[in-house]
Amino acid sequence: MKDSGENHGHPYRRLDRRIEEVVHDPYAERSKPREPAACPDCGAVFTHGRWAWSGPADGAGEHLCPACHRIRDRMPAGWVTLAGSFLPAHREEILHLVHNEADRVRAEHPLERIMDVADSDGTTTITTTGIHLARRLGDAIHHAYQGALDTQYAPDEYRIRVHWSR
Ligand SMILES: [Zn+2]
Repeated sequence: MKDSGENHGHPYRRLDRRIEEVVHDPYAERSKPREPAACPDCGAVFTHGRWAWSGPADGAGEHLCPACHRIRDRMPAGWVTLAGSFLPAHREEILHLVHNEADRVRAEHPLERIMDVADSDGTTTITTTGIHLARRLGDAIHHAYQGALDTQYAPDEYRIRVHWSR
């Protein structure tokens, strides 16, 4: 966790830490490749027990990283739903914030990425490959635009639903 410097006092932070300690990502568990390995889809490298954006390329075997595996399976770990009457006129700037935050998180955590952004009946749903990113997006939107933020997760599953409305 490198969130200590970015804690804005959101009540979800403590909850988040517990999720990460208790719940394991089944995609990560299944995907411990021999090192070094490189993902053929995104180029991430598995080295020193984790996926990184750079590392030894010599002799690297191909292994699909958990994030690309989820993308191929269309199996998100996080859903961030945006709704409310404030949304339509501010959707573009909110999504700009979302993509900026996602870029920051992705640079540090290669397996945390946005999968898709979809609109339906006045709501916008962002799916993510990791629960960490979904929470970070919810926190960032709430911090910038206030509104109501609700975070739900199943205790035994690596899956999170974040709902924001204003
Ligand atoms: Zn990949």
